[in-house]
Amino acid sequence: MGASRLPPKRNPDFPNRETKVQRQLRAERVLALLHQHFPDAHCALHWETPFQLLVATMLSAQCTDKRVNQVTPNLFVRFPDAKAMAAASVSELEDLVRTTGFFRNKAKNISQSAKLLLRDWDGEVPNTMEALLKLPGVARKTANCVLGTAFQQPVGVVVDTHVGRIARRMGFSREANPVAVERDLMTFFPRTDWVYLSHAWIDLGRSLCTARTAHCSRCFLRGECPQRVAERQR
Ligand code: SF4
Repeated sequence: MGASRLPPKRNPDFPNRETKVQRQLRAERVLALLHQHFPDAHCALHWETPFQLLVATMLSAQCTDKRVNQVTPNLFVRFPDAKAMAAASVSELEDLVRTTGFFRNKAKNISQSAKLLLRDWDGEVPNTMEALLKLPGVARKTANCVLGTAFQQPVGVVVDTHVGRIARRMGFSREANPVAVERDLMTFFPRTDWVYLSHAWIDLGRSLCTARTAHCSRCFLRGECPQRVAERQR
């Protein structure tokens, strides 16, 4: 029989009400623990230039970083920059990115973005949220990733499926919408750690706080988390 989905339950030892200041202090303790346990948390995508990170991040939607990293070496050998990518045919791009899923949309967006970058930015990737959001297929998650990782500009928090889930389980947000979750996280965590936080929570979401099961009994954050329950036997 397959494993059942086991969302965590409320930790009975955790206070029912938490003031904003208490939550802020908890965020500091959570960060300290994350730095201790994931000292090297970083973007798992392989890239050499901001353009390549932009493309890799666009490909990572609904796809694992591992799969993207299998696809991008060939893609970037053929089309290493915006100029080359803009000259590629969409069908050629579709073939190269097919295994990342939603490949027609992704190929179209990458092609159109490359053309826009060539036209408006001399082929370079702009380093502002406003300019990045004008590129087809680029939302705040992708823009935050490029700004934080390629330009070391923490403009926001990357909220992917792992970060959203952990933010809710840990009681830092009740929102379902990633933009609203991001806003909550920006309130409680310091700007200097926004980029790190998303990388660290992505690592946590892949290892202990997974979508299927929260392994709370093994989790180093269990003392700071309102959700905690021993996992049931599968
Ligand atoms: S204790 Fe850890 S695994 Fe459990 S819900 Fe909290 S963050 Fe997730």
